[in-house]
Amino acid sequence: MSSDLFLGIDMGTSGCRIIAINEMGEIRGRSHVSLPPPQRQGRAIEQDPEQWWQAIKQAFTNLFQEVPAKAVRSLAVDGTSGTVVLVDKKGSPLTPALLYNDSRNHAEAHLIAEQAPPHSGALGPTSSLAKLLYLQTRPEALQAAYLLHQADWIAFRLGAKLGISDENNCLKTGYDSNQQEWPDWLDRVGVRRELLPTVVPPGTLIGTIDPSHTETFQIPPQAKLVAGTTDSIAAFIATGAGKPGDAVTSLGSTLALKVASERPIFSAKYGIYSHRLGRLWLAGGASNSGGIVLRQYFTQAQLDEMTPHLQPQQITGLNYYPLPAQGERFPVPDPHYSPCLAPRPRDDITFFQAILEGIARIEAQGYRQLQSLGAPFPSLVKTTGGGAHNPAWLQIREHTLRVPVIAAHETEAAYGSALLARQALS
Ligand code: ADP
Repeated sequence: MSSDLFLGIDMGTSGCRIIAINEMGEIRGRSHVSLPPPQRQGRAIEQDPEQWWQAIKQAFTNLFQEVPAKAVRSLAVDGTSGTVVLVDKKGSPLTPALLYNDSRNHAEAHLIAEQAPPHSGALGPTSSLAKLLYLQTRPEALQAAYLLHQADWIAFRLGAKLGISDENNCLKTGYDSNQQEWPDWLDRVGVRRELLPTVVPPGTLIGTIDPSHTETFQIPPQAKLVAGTTDSIAAFIATGAGKPGDAVTSLGSTLALKVASERPIFSAKYGIYSHRLGRLWLAGGASNSGGIVLRQYFTQAQLDEMTPHLQPQQITGLNYYPLPAQGERFPVPDPHYSPCLAPRPRDDITFFQAILEGIARIEAQGYRQLQSLGAPFPSLVKTTGGGAHNPAWLQIREHTLRVPVIAAHETEAAYGSALLARQALS
């Protein structure tokens, strides 16, 4: 059997992770390197891209102690959606990277809101477009050649052509994936169009490994760079979901739903947008509910201890709407919506279960909401996040959703990117 390897690189804010898979999709090696925390000053949150690059190099060094670099055939990178950097014509950063949660650009966000369609991914002060409008005004912008997203810059450093991005990373920069173009309204907010990258679908071949990495790491000179995606889409791909009706629920601090659909779904009212992936669209929405509510009442140790004592067959009948505070986005778009977590039973296990039942109902309502906007109702729900391994919750959710609910086997974004890298050569 061939020993070819395909690498997925997940570049995040807290570190970088690389996963090497073989042709069968089996993990052959992995490495992780942490990053120092970003610089914060009020709403400004920045990181030096050179730190990303140092982390990648260290992660390669570690990985290639485990697997042979000479077996690498292709690499794809995913990055944090909304983290951007302005570069010159050689690809050197002109400013620190503005991170996904940098929210200093309120004036720019107002301008965008006046011109963008209501469902645009570029709305809000943390959008990549708001960041571009701000960066354009800095003196360094005189030398600027491109705005790049985190994943684009890493792919470039690895050998991809400068100035290329993918459809998913560009959604928050204002790209219209439906028409597959940078729309006209961008001119009305004053974007310097020449700074916008050329956009390709995730999985497109975008270059060959830089010869310096052939020398340093012994990666073969013919190894290909493949366009990646955002971290959350890579995590969706990692689960193996990919047919219309396949859904992935992320049960982390918040509850996030995504379902594969044959057509895009957008709704400004519900904060729903869709990422293009091949011939499908991943339509999703996120509630303010989620595991964060459990952690307001219980420690992780208490959750672990109580989980085996849950009784999923015996529904508590308590009709909770668990929220960490007032305000909901999806499936109920109401900034004043009140949490319902009363009456609280004396017994903690019943209280825990009632919160799980409440979140399960919000999940079902969310998928029904996506369905009413044109997405298929899920035929299978895979689950990721800290709540995915609670077997009683899987049962409660299966009962509420009336479709099979399973914990996803693979959930890491780096694994999803490795699948993209492999698929591009098949
Ligand atoms: P984040 O979104 O912060 O990355 P994680 O995916 O790490 O979150 O998941 C953490 C969440 O998982 C916590 O908010 C916690 O409430 C939830 N969680 C942990 N253990 C359980 C459990 N046994 N049952 C239900 N939820 C759990």
